[in-house]
Amino acid sequence: MATIFDTIIIGGGQSGLACAYYLRRTKLRYVLLDDQPAPGAAWRSGWDSLTLFSPAAFSSLPGWLMPESRQQLPGREEVIAYLTAYENRYSLPVERPVHVQDVCYRDGIFELKTPKKTYHARTVISATGTFRKPFIPDYPGYSKFKGLHLHSSEYKNPDQVAGKRVLIVGGGNSGAQILAEVSRVADTKWVTLEEVTYLPDDVDGKVLFDQATARYYAMQKGEQPDLSRYSLGSIVMVPPVKEARARGVLKTVRPFAQFYETGVVWPDGKKEETDAVIWCTGFGYALDHLACLHLLIEKGKIEVEGTRAVQQPGLWLVGYGNWTGFASATLIGVGRSARQTAAEVEEYLLKTAHAAGY
Ligand code: FAD
Repeated sequence: MATIFDTIIIGGGQSGLACAYYLRRTKLRYVLLDDQPAPGAAWRSGWDSLTLFSPAAFSSLPGWLMPESRQQLPGREEVIAYLTAYENRYSLPVERPVHVQDVCYRDGIFELKTPKKTYHARTVISATGTFRKPFIPDYPGYSKFKGLHLHSSEYKNPDQVAGKRVLIVGGGNSGAQILAEVSRVADTKWVTLEEVTYLPDDVDGKVLFDQATARYYAMQKGEQPDLSRYSLGSIVMVPPVKEARARGVLKTVRPFAQFYETGVVWPDGKKEETDAVIWCTGFGYALDHLACLHLLIEKGKIEVEGTRAVQQPGLWLVGYGNWTGFASATLIGVGRSARQTAAEVEEYLLKTAHAAGY
């Protein structure tokens, strides 16, 4: 008889670990399945110089603060070390590398197919993030272009495009940070849909998070929040971006109209030879493993109430963005969603009288 877990968490990144932290306080039998060879999830694949937007103390998962950083903002390696230590500190039962290919639901039990075996569970928490789903907008002639297309998820360091003519597309923080370092070694142009907004130099990710939180709660209470304050989409002035501003390279232009074989055509018809385009245009949601449940609605999302899937009993989604919990795609924000999710999972199992040990 195959083991039936009370719950299986798919994904061993910050979201999965935060859920596990709360599940370990219950009597539920659970496991995390993560397809990376080691801890760190998306942070393992970020670019070399990637740092957090907030100091360590404001970038922590539930229960244990991230250790102080040697620098003002912790780097990628420090986040990976923290996630590794977090997993060990709480002896979280992560199995890796295990890639969940398909999740099916039969007679009240989920079947999770992986290359080596099929796992069974009464509930599933999907925490697979966005990194697997790089998004590139449609541009006419995209495939005609013979130069290099590089999504920010594939970008590692400026050596990849040194000495080239490079367009950096996307007005978010990835675009700003990649522009800042690539512009030191390449001829760059920053392409954004509209003029970008910059935070004041003394506003870091923590202030941004606090203000977005205040605005969120105001909206929850039916109040009209002051929308003129900083938005989560504004550029945080981390040291490399400040340095790029001092060099005068933080300038944006509106999008080109199309590609041709060796460059792009601007809206006024002018052609410009280009060697590479770095797409800092964001991500969709890594939900392919849920395809056979037929739950997808518009924009690759699933209908949720909080984090609970509305159309599928026993399924929760954590960490994908505001639609699965306010600020749930951040280290500091995911704890709230995770706590609520663990409580709902336990309640659901109690109600359905299936939980082991109950
Ligand atoms: P992930 O970290 O992507 O983890 C999901 C895990 O699930 C991965 O290991 C993945 O391989 C695995 N997986 C996926 N599919 C399957 C499957 N089918 N089977 C098994 N395993 C699977 N956040 C902050 O809190 N602070 C910051 O300052 C910050 N700065 C950022 C800066 C940039 C430029 C970017 C791009 C992101 C930043 N983030 C920041 C956000 C953060 O990187 C991500 O939101 C975070 O990694 C999401 O965590 P997660 O656990 O939800 O997903």
